[in-house]
Amino acid sequence: MSSRDINDLKPEIKMKALRFVELCKQKGIDILIVCTLRTSEEQDELWQSGRTKAGKILTNLKGGKSKHNFGLAFDFCVLANGKCDWNNKDAFLEAGKIGESVGLLWAGRWTGKLKETGHFEV
Ligand SMILES: [Zn+2]
Repeated sequence: MSSRDINDLKPEIKMKALRFVELCKQKGIDILIVCTLRTSEEQDELWQSGRTKAGKILTNLKGGKSKHNFGLAFDFCVLANGKCDWNNKDAFLEAGKIGESVGLLWAGRWTGKLKETGHFEV
């Protein structure tokens, strides 16, 4: 089972994740942590999306290659009326900047790799 529990993150990112959540709350951005730790098998399944399975390409990383597999990354979404609102680019940018301010690497800035506005890692 993949986890959305901040406690499953390694200490060096867990502290930053908690700070990120707190700052978002202070700024009135409603966010939800949707994934923290993911097994290697789950990563492989994700990788198949858009390749051997129908759907969009969701990752370029196979099992064992993602920071999620080591508790060194987490995904979040911005909520609107209690649901993830993936189209709210302004709020994701705002949240991305907040994460960067606490020392997280925000995948919303990635250019060479697959850009992911809801992903942080260290
Ligand atoms: Zn991610």
